[in-house]
Amino acid sequence: MSLAERLGEAQQRIANATLAAKRELDSVTLIVVTKNHPAQLVLDLIDLGMRDFGENRDQEAAPKALEVRAGSDIEHRWHFIGQLQSNKVKSVVTYANSIHSLDRESLLDALGKATLERNTPLDVFIQLNLTDDEARGGIRDGELLPFAEKVLGHPGLNLVGVMGVAALDNNLERDFGLIRAASEKLQTVKPEAKLISAGMSEDFETAIAFGATHLRIGSAITGKRQY
Ligand SMILES: *Cc1c(COP(=O)(O)O)cnc(C)c1O
Repeated sequence: MSLAERLGEAQQRIANATLAAKRELDSVTLIVVTKNHPAQLVLDLIDLGMRDFGENRDQEAAPKALEVRAGSDIEHRWHFIGQLQSNKVKSVVTYANSIHSLDRESLLDALGKATLERNTPLDVFIQLNLTDDEARGGIRDGELLPFAEKVLGHPGLNLVGVMGVAALDNNLERDFGLIRAASEKLQTVKPEAKLISAGMSEDFETAIAFGATHLRIGSAITGKRQY
């Protein structure tokens, strides 16, 4: 299958899932995760109408973002979706339009500092830890509101919603239900922070049923990653 065919198929599945969930098609943004693929793939996706791209490593994303900007005049957006080291923040804020992986206080402090001088605040999603495993990173349910209050104290950051990754234990409904509940909770302190970044190649239809607004789809569209 070609890139265009895989993209078309994913878009059809998204359309079917939004219809089944009685949602508007434009309530869902497709972010194509282009990690481990060259800039040319992003340029090809821009030609196919895509405008939102996801990356998870600064070392790879920073040069790719430059290459894509040099190769296309069409406005597009980069979403940083991977674990972010504080020492990479200065670089990431130069090209990223949003950070989906705000998962701890030290990162919040680094992002707050790096965005102080911005004219337009940087969009951030709070990444949730849906497990009992502290080591997995992400904000636990009990810490969500206190952490959100801290995010709101940073003028350079615009808190837009929550992000979650479903565990691979076949309990998608539970996980996406927890993400939706966290989103509702977050809206009690910031009503506009309604976005939900959830859903990957294997589970995006369920994510749509549970209210995901930003899908992060990689391999289903890009094909196998070249490691
Ligand atoms: C790689 C990645 C994705 C995309 O995964 P696929 O299974 O290829 O769709 C989504 N979210 C995050 C955080 C990722 O690192």
